[in-house]
Amino acid sequence: MASPQGLKAPLEFGGPLGAAALMLLLPATALHLLLAARSGPARLLGPPAHLPGLSELWNPRVLLLLLTWLGLQAALYLLPARKVAEGLELKDKSRLRYPINGFQALMLTALLVGLGISAGLPLGALSEVLLPLAFVATLTTFIFSFLLYMKAQVAPASGLAPGGNSGNLIYDFFMGRELNPRIGFFDFKYFCELRPGLIGWVLINLALLLQETELRGSPSLAMWLVNGFQLLYVGDALWYEEAVLTTMDITHDGFGFMLAFGDLVWVPFTYSLQAQFLLYHPQPLGLPRALLICFINAVGYYIFRGANSQKNTFRQNPSDPSIAGLETIPTATGKRLLVSGWWGMVRHPNYLGDLIMALAWSLPCGVSHLLPYFYFFYFAALLVHREARDELQCLQKYGRAWHEYCQRVPYRIVPYIY
Ligand code: NDP
Repeated sequence: MASPQGLKAPLEFGGPLGAAALMLLLPATALHLLLAARSGPARLLGPPAHLPGLSELWNPRVLLLLLTWLGLQAALYLLPARKVAEGLELKDKSRLRYPINGFQALMLTALLVGLGISAGLPLGALSEVLLPLAFVATLTTFIFSFLLYMKAQVAPASGLAPGGNSGNLIYDFFMGRELNPRIGFFDFKYFCELRPGLIGWVLINLALLLQETELRGSPSLAMWLVNGFQLLYVGDALWYEEAVLTTMDITHDGFGFMLAFGDLVWVPFTYSLQAQFLLYHPQPLGLPRALLICFINAVGYYIFRGANSQKNTFRQNPSDPSIAGLETIPTATGKRLLVSGWWGMVRHPNYLGDLIMALAWSLPCGVSHLLPYFYFFYFAALLVHREARDELQCLQKYGRAWHEYCQRVPYRIVPYIY
C-alpha cells in the first residue's frame, strides 16, 4: 500500500517490529497482572502462579455484558449535551464539533448503577469475571481496530494521521491511520478516550469494594482511599472533558490499536490493580498513615489541576485575568509559550502532579508487595516517553523559541532531578 503524499513521519515504538511486539506484550501483561493480583504470592515479576485455560477466558455472557456496557455509554454520548465544543483547526481548516457530556454520562451511570444495586444487582460479582472480561475486551479491540483500519481506506487524505500512514500494515494498524474516525456526529476516538474505559475503571473499583464488604463485613480504609482517589481523578477528567480536545491523543495520534487498547482494556483492567490487589490481600492502614497518603494525593492533585488549568486557560483565552501576570515568550507560529507559573517550574508540571498521585494510589497497599506499585513504575515510563514525543513535536512546531524555553526551564518533569 502506498503512503499518502506528505504523510511520511519518523517511525515510533521501534517501527513495525516494535508495534507487533507491543500488540502481544500489552494484552499478555494485562492478563498477567489480573492473574497475579488474585494469586497468593501476588508476584509482579516471574510467571503467573496459574495459567488459565480457554474456558476461563472465553465466556459469551461476559461478551454480552461488555457489548451492553459499550452500548449504554454510546447511548449516553448521544444524549443532548450542556455544550458542544469545537476542536482545534484541522489540516483542511475545518473544526470538528464534540458533545461535552462526559460528566453527565458518569452521573447517569452512577444513578443507573445505584438503582440497580438497590434492586438487587450483584455488582460485586463483577470482580469474579474480570479475567474473561479483559479477554473479550482485548478480542473486541482487535476487531474494532481492524474495522477502523478498513474505514481509513475510504477516508480523505486530509483526515489521515501523519504517524499512522507509513505504508506498513502492522505499524499502521497499531498507530491508527485515521485521525478522527467518525460516523456522523459520533467520534470513535473521543468517545473511547474518556467514557467506557474511564467510567468502567471506577465501576470495577466499586465492584471490588462491594465484594470486599461481602467477604469481610465492611470495606477497608485502604480500599476506600483507592476508590476515592481514583474516582476524583476520573471525575476530574470528565468535568474538564473539553481539555482532552487539545491533547496529543486527539490532535496528533491516529485511532488504531494503540489508543483503542489503552482506552478499552489497559485503563479499566490495569488501573484498577490496586483495588484488585486489596480484595485478595487486605492491608492494615492506620489513620495517621491514611492522612499522610491523603495529603500526598492532595499535593499531586493541586499541581496536576493547577498546571493543566493554567495552560488550558492560556491557550483558550490568553488575556484571562487569572494568568495576567505570567511571563511568556513569542514563537514564529504566533502562539506564545508560558515561561513562568507552573510551566516555569518544569516543562511538564502536569506530569509531575500526575506521578505524585500515582504514588498515593499505591501507598494504601503497603510495602509488602511490588505489584500495586506497577502503575507508578509503568506511568513514570509512559510519561518519560510521552514527554520525549511531545518535546520533538514542540521542537518541530516552535524551533528556536522551544530551544529558548528549554534554556529558561531546564528540567522536564521533576525539578532539579529530571
Ligand atoms: P499536555 O497537556 O502536557 O500538553 C502538551 C502541549 O502543551 C504541548 O504540545 C504544547 O502544545 C503545550 N505546551 C507545552 N509547553 C507549554 C508552555 N510552556 N506554554 C504553553 N503551552 C505549552 O499533554 P498530554 O496530553 O501529554 O497530557 C495531558 C494530561 O493528561 C496530563 O496531566 C497528563 O499527566 C495526563 N495523562 C494521563 C495519562 C494516564 O494514563 N493517566 C496518560 C497521558 C496523559 P501547544 O503549544 O500546541 O498548545
